[in-house]
Amino acid sequence: MAPHVLIFPLPLQGPVNCMLKLAELLCISGISVTVLNTNHIQRMLLRHTNVLTRFGRYLNFRFETISDGLPDDHPRTGDRVLELFEGLKAVTEPVFREMMVSGCFSSKSDAPVTVIIPDGVYPFVLDVAEEVKIPVIYFETISPCALWTYLCLPNMVAAGEVPFKSNDLDVMIKSVPGTVNFLRRRDLPSFFRFDDLADIQTQIVLKEARSVPRAYGLILNTFQALDASILVHMQTLCPNTYCIGPIHKLYKSHLTSESILLSNVSNSLWEENITCFSWLDSQVPRSVVYVSIGSMAGMTVDQFFEFWHGLVNSGKHFLWVQRPCSILGEYDDNQVPRRLVEETKKRGFITTWVPQEAVLAHSAIGVFLTHSGWNSTLESIMEGVPMICWPQNVDQQVNSRFVSDVWKIGIDIKDTCDRLTIEKAVKDVMDVKRSELIESLRMFVELGGQSVTEDGSSIMDFNRLIKTIKSL
Ligand code: UDP
Repeated sequence: MAPHVLIFPLPLQGPVNCMLKLAELLCISGISVTVLNTNHIQRMLLRHTNVLTRFGRYLNFRFETISDGLPDDHPRTGDRVLELFEGLKAVTEPVFREMMVSGCFSSKSDAPVTVIIPDGVYPFVLDVAEEVKIPVIYFETISPCALWTYLCLPNMVAAGEVPFKSNDLDVMIKSVPGTVNFLRRRDLPSFFRFDDLADIQTQIVLKEARSVPRAYGLILNTFQALDASILVHMQTLCPNTYCIGPIHKLYKSHLTSESILLSNVSNSLWEENITCFSWLDSQVPRSVVYVSIGSMAGMTVDQFFEFWHGLVNSGKHFLWVQRPCSILGEYDDNQVPRRLVEETKKRGFITTWVPQEAVLAHSAIGVFLTHSGWNSTLESIMEGVPMICWPQNVDQQVNSRFVSDVWKIGIDIKDTCDRLTIEKAVKDVMDVKRSELIESLRMFVELGGQSVTEDGSSIMDFNRLIKTIKSL
């Protein structure tokens, strides 16, 4: 039977970006691919990217769509992400089941679906797939270190370590093998902080922890040398693991070696503003603080002003992405101290959504003040940019601990947000600790680069994945 993969991303920027890259890599390898996006994601992609032209080159590719259960005018912002999960459960789950049982993806294509690659957060896909007897290989687009804490959640619950009250966050966690010397309660995903196991997010993670090891395989966006200390434990639960990251570099190396033009490749859900590049070109190398909190995280008005004061007080130049809806609340322009406005005119550049991979690759960038999303973390590592981590949700708290205490490539300011901390963090990374952070980063840039060149670990795992898909 000719291989035909159904890819089903979580409808958020990071997962969609990774899954579309995987989809294209599979097409190039001769595998038929259907990508199932939510209607909303598909509309945004069509508005801001050339995906139709790009994927139109592949005769073995098609897009399909499904409802996310939310009304068209729902803002789908980070502060309302639970509503998205409720919509997925109430509407997407039963519709997906109906689609699979009726064989709709198979009848629209030349070949029946032979493998499903869903996001790891979709346990229901495994239930349906078992019913229709199609193997599932999960793609976990969060970090392996955070996924490992998810997989260990049942152990933590059994050991009485979770749930816990949020007031004593420095207690060490003992039931996550490989992390016992450095993982504290505050470094666990934020939703472990709820003191009620019935909490909807905790329930989602518990379901994920039970379903991922039951799948045929697990794809991870990392490379062996970065996450070896965690992978060795994870493979006891999920032996069939494919580490194909950093996927944005694997993607580039594959497309270049296949001589496919890489111009204008974007999976961005928002319009990319490129005016920052002429400003960056005029800056001194490694002098700029790049500030972005990704596609979903937000900050209150108070936090926003603390960030702004801290950046200005650091005396450094800064490029700050202020995504629409990322500031939770409103403020009056009269509230803004004159000094902030004047200093920003001299030393700052405020922008909306940017092509982040290209920004991080620009020689002017000296540090990334980030929310520690996994894609942002990998993109920063691969460009050798040290990080100041201000994590909010999902895997970010775990990632920032690994950045600061395991990989030693940045500093973690989680659970604080005051101007002094931000000023000090910027000065520390830019001046005081710069050389030691850069030294650690250099090693990962090299090892990450090797992993996606000939015979590198990620290339080998990707080839093994292709072989597996063709054999199923
Ligand atoms: N991103 C971007 N432009 C921006 C901010 C972010 O292209 O102005 C991209 C970034 O390169 C990354 C993704 O959005 O690939 C964010 O994913 P991440 O996992 O870091 O965080 P999330 O948005 O899922 O919280």
